[in-house]
Amino acid sequence: MSTTSIRPKIALIGAGPASLTLANILQNHSIPFTIYESSSTIRSQGGSLDLHPRTGQLALKEANRWDQFAKHCRPESDVTKLVDIFGEVCWDEGGADKHEVREEEKFDGRPEIDRAKLMELLHENITPEAIKFNKKLSKAVPSITEAKKYDLQFADGTIEKDVDLVVGGDGAWSKVRDLLTGVKPQYSGITAIEIWAFDVKEKNPWLANYVGEGSMFSFGEGRAVQAQRQGDGSLRTYASMRAPENFVETCGIDWNDHASARKAYVDQNFSDIGEDLKRVILESSDNLIPRTMYELPIGITWPSRSGVTLIGDAAHLMTPFAGVGVNVSMFDALELSKAIVAAWNGQKGLDEAVQEYEKELFPRAEMFMKKTEKNKRDHFSEDGTRRLAAKIRAFHAGELQGSKSEH
Ligand SMILES: Cc1cc2nc3c(=O)[nH]c(=O)nc-3n(C[C@H](O)[C@H](O)[C@H](O)COP(=O)(O)OP(=O)(O)OC[C@H]3O[C@@H](n4cnc5c(N)ncnc54)[C@H](O)[C@@H]3O)c2cc1C
Repeated sequence: MSTTSIRPKIALIGAGPASLTLANILQNHSIPFTIYESSSTIRSQGGSLDLHPRTGQLALKEANRWDQFAKHCRPESDVTKLVDIFGEVCWDEGGADKHEVREEEKFDGRPEIDRAKLMELLHENITPEAIKFNKKLSKAVPSITEAKKYDLQFADGTIEKDVDLVVGGDGAWSKVRDLLTGVKPQYSGITAIEIWAFDVKEKNPWLANYVGEGSMFSFGEGRAVQAQRQGDGSLRTYASMRAPENFVETCGIDWNDHASARKAYVDQNFSDIGEDLKRVILESSDNLIPRTMYELPIGITWPSRSGVTLIGDAAHLMTPFAGVGVNVSMFDALELSKAIVAAWNGQKGLDEAVQEYEKELFPRAEMFMKKTEKNKRDHFSEDGTRRLAAKIRAFHAGELQGSKSEH
């Protein structure tokens, strides 16, 4: 490595999917690093994630984690049902619109994997000494003794000195980002309740049957209901709406009382939707989490700075409406790993390699953020369901190019 020490000290902040993907690839190249994670363990809560062939799946292949993914993912969950907000079924791949998926097409679409499984397969091969838990970064500051190096200040009062490359994989509210730009996430205009029904086939066969084995989407003006079967047999649903940023605090709903909160939320905001859709919300009675959704501005960039960069949500936080966040995050990791490996092998300086990574990152992130923004607009519009149904129909009729995951 020509522009920095022979064995640069590399710190990855956060142990999310982006950092863990990068860590696997660096480890495969025998490049040392340390991950600093604020939690006491790998954070694996959350629902299923679908990994796309040209981004998330590709990164897993480079990380040598493909076999484990292929073993644990659920291509059979890649079936979509679309229902308009008043209850009319517009597309149902589990029923009237069923089509055979050939073996060779199994991974072309959006095979789902539970977040916990994905995190496990990304974590299990990492040398335990390379991850430090309970290390919440408070601030990263330029070293006072060494030019182009950084000191990491942690919430427990400890300091890690003289880091050559700080990679911010620390998600939405990244502390590393503060070294590069003052830009912060802004409210997306959308608030959701995330509601769960556990063991749904056993406990509520109607609900299991209605949603099917994959995902059910329903879009209307200012509102959306999205339900998705999980690998552990549960059902996760988002009932989302356009609302002011302080809706959760000011709407008068007592979120601690889940049963009354579900009913009040439906009565106030979803009283006119299809009866089946109402049932999906009201009968998802095992957990409820209100979520105020944030995003970074489309086209966010920063002036390149020696020894610091970002991957994943820290670089381009988006709402989940295009289902691309984790995919783009893991792809960032793949691209940054190539830059670090090239620098490690002396093919270019570390600064140059990271600058090249960022030059590609910015337009790529912008493209996915625009796609997400478009989906957000479409999903919360009156004819959103019908337009998506028409697009899926056109894809299956061979009228659209590309793989299923791109539509
Ligand atoms: C409700 C919801 C649904 C989603 N659904 C999908 C989907 O279906 N498909 C999809 O592709 N994407 C989805 N996403 C987006 C996806 O979850 C993210 O894009 C992805 O997790 C980003 O990975 P990451 O590693 O960049 O960040 P994160 O997953 O946020 O990981 C960041 C890590 O950094 C740690 N950390 C944070 N701050 C610090 C600190 N100061 N010091 C040390 N460690 C720190 C955190 O504990 C965490 O472990 C969804 C997101 C949400 C919120």
